[in-house]
Amino acid sequence: MSETTPPSEAARRIVADADRCVQCGLCLPVCPTYGLLREEADSPRGRIALARALAAGALAPDPVLAGHLRRCLLCRACEAMCPAGVPFARIMDAARARAPATDRSAPLRSLLRRPRLLRAGVHALRAARRTGLAAAAARLPLLPVPLRRSVTLLPTPARPVRVAGRRAGPEAGPRVWLFPGCTGEALDARTVADALDALAALGFRVRVPERHLCCGALALHAGRSAEARALAARAAAALADDGEAPVVAVASGCALNLAEADALGQPGLAARARELTAFLAATPWPRAPSLRPVRLRVLPHAPCSLAHGLRAAGAVEALLRRVPGLEVVRAADAPACCGGAGAYAFEEPELSAALRAQWAERLTALRPQAVATPNLGCALQLGAAAREAGLELEVLHPVSLLARALGRA
Ligand code: SF4
Ligand code: SF4
Repeated sequence: MSETTPPSEAARRIVADADRCVQCGLCLPVCPTYGLLREEADSPRGRIALARALAAGALAPDPVLAGHLRRCLLCRACEAMCPAGVPFARIMDAARARAPATDRSAPLRSLLRRPRLLRAGVHALRAARRTGLAAAAARLPLLPVPLRRSVTLLPTPARPVRVAGRRAGPEAGPRVWLFPGCTGEALDARTVADALDALAALGFRVRVPERHLCCGALALHAGRSAEARALAARAAAALADDGEAPVVAVASGCALNLAEADALGQPGLAARARELTAFLAATPWPRAPSLRPVRLRVLPHAPCSLAHGLRAAGAVEALLRRVPGLEVVRAADAPACCGGAGAYAFEEPELSAALRAQWAERLTALRPQAVATPNLGCALQLGAAAREAGLELEVLHPVSLLARALGRA
């Protein structure tokens, strides 16, 4: 920005938000990237200073600066810790829009907009796993690194489901929309089916949108706010019927983005957004179900989107405690982000692997039989951590344990 160019509204807002930071440094110990790299520029305080300088025109959006912004997981541990109420995620999303080199998730976002292609890919991966082709492909140096990494990290996915437009549950009862997100039907089919079954069995009248919808989180965090706004508008339009019914997102990452859709021009959608685990833990169930015991030693995992974004860290454990027979593992320390963080495992593979390794150690020490987490990205990352540690454990959404207790899974 030259001296004669007036700052844009977006730039002024970044500067105003950043100026709330009193540089106390209380956020540094909770920042996973600062913990790994020990660089001020990879800490929340450092990133706020960089974002401010970028918005004020004091720094250019060069690749070095873009790298510091991109390495942020947007886990929001800093935001939850900050005594000055600095809106860190808002600063970071807006700053990334000014540094184009931060956007590495464009190919993934493009794939996620094509549900048929995504389902076909899942079918191909299942077939490749059955025949041993996947293991061979993962060793092929000619394949692009992200593809090789997906083959290694992804567990064999369940057969994709088609739930678009589906209705379930009794004729009367509270209405809810189930929001599978852009990945649910293809990559998290078991969870989506379990969520539909559990909500229906508990007496909710459930509807699934007719259209393949995306909450827009990946676009927003890549600095693509226009794309995120368009996706939020599309979701709001598709969910306009039953305008009072809560919109219950299967993944906590989607739930957080929907809950903040007012910033994307959709305040009505934001007000109706719920996260599935927190919804089931806190909402009275219309039907008193008969639950059978599920004998399992399970570790509750609160994704950053749930713990720091929605400030509902206890929701997973609260729901698990409603399932008879479960032994809920208590862990003394609060662990850092697992490194799943949307597309982070593909965008920053080394840092993601380092955070995954911390979780591998933790799982080795705690030895649960299962980990219950309500976010697909975390489930994939924690499953990979377990495999890398040579542990045999299930990683599943808490709703799948409830569905099991209901005899539905
Ligand atoms: S805790 Fe808040 S005010 Fe303190 S340095 Fe971090 S962002 Fe700034
Ligand atoms: S959002 Fe997470 S990774 Fe990013 S600066 Fe804050 S604590 Fe660090």
